[in-house]
Amino acid sequence: LVRLRARLARSQNTFGRSLLALLSRDTLDDDAWDEIEDTLLAADMGVAPARQIVEDLRTKVQVLGSRTPADVRELLRGELIAQIGADWDRALHTERHGTRPAIVLVVGVNGTGKTTTCGKLGRVLVGDDRRVLLGAADTFRAAAADQLVTWGTRVGAEVVRGAEGADPASVAFEAVRQGIDSKVDTVIIDTAGRLHTKTGLMDELGKVKRVVEKQAEVDEVLLVLDATTGQNGLQQARVFAEVVNVTGIVLTKLDGTAKGGIVVAVQRELGVPVKLVGLGEGPDDLAPFEPGPFVDAILG
Ligand code: GDP
Repeated sequence: LVRLRARLARSQNTFGRSLLALLSRDTLDDDAWDEIEDTLLAADMGVAPARQIVEDLRTKVQVLGSRTPADVRELLRGELIAQIGADWDRALHTERHGTRPAIVLVVGVNGTGKTTTCGKLGRVLVGDDRRVLLGAADTFRAAAADQLVTWGTRVGAEVVRGAEGADPASVAFEAVRQGIDSKVDTVIIDTAGRLHTKTGLMDELGKVKRVVEKQAEVDEVLLVLDATTGQNGLQQARVFAEVVNVTGIVLTKLDGTAKGGIVVAVQRELGVPVKLVGLGEGPDDLAPFEPGPFVDAILG
């Protein structure tokens, strides 16, 4: 948690601090409120949430009258936490069910950090004394499977991979079969994120999911989204969400952006909670997403 704060604080300072400074002005005229809205928009908050936040803050500031810095901070903190949604269910379903492992599918556009997230999530679970199997169903890039094998070795997880160009669904099937046989707790499947056409994607991911479901229910479909890609990334995320039933979002590369508002935008856009955040390239750089500490980090 301390590390999360440190990592986020480094890049999020500008956005949170700007808001605090703006709200602390003696007089808040229309221009000041426009500036506050612009700051929220620049942080990728999305148009509707930015408007809502400004509206709420305006009302609250009026009620409050004179403001101390502590008042301003508390006001903004409460509002941001409310917008991020303190009541989403962010529980990650990775627990074994009786005779079968939990199944986690990791989907998203290439380059967003899927393979890295599979490795880091494996690390978290192995650290909790769980046995993990990683399935390399991204068979289009040999490098992706090699990368996953490296992660497996690094974090102490078994890896199932197919030949280059093998059917992704057959690798996913094999990973689940082997996971059941060797009684692991969690099978994490890395998928290909080629956004060629929506039908192509649907066929491919849909097939992976159907084939996996012949043996075990899928417990989590985690959509990986690169926080640095803004609206463009959101657009692509939407396509995935239309194709598979996403249960949670992993927001990666939050360490490399001052635009933390994407959390609000993506949840609102997809109707799915952010469950995990990526804060770097290392094995321990994955954290559960918690609105309170996140907002505290944003506010610096
Ligand atoms: P994939 O194509 O979706 O599987 O993406 P990869 O897992 O190969 O990641 C693409 C690049 O992003 C790699 O260089 C990763 O090290 C990097 N990356 C992934 N997650 C994070 C993160 O949370 N923070 C940072 N800074 N880099 C990340």
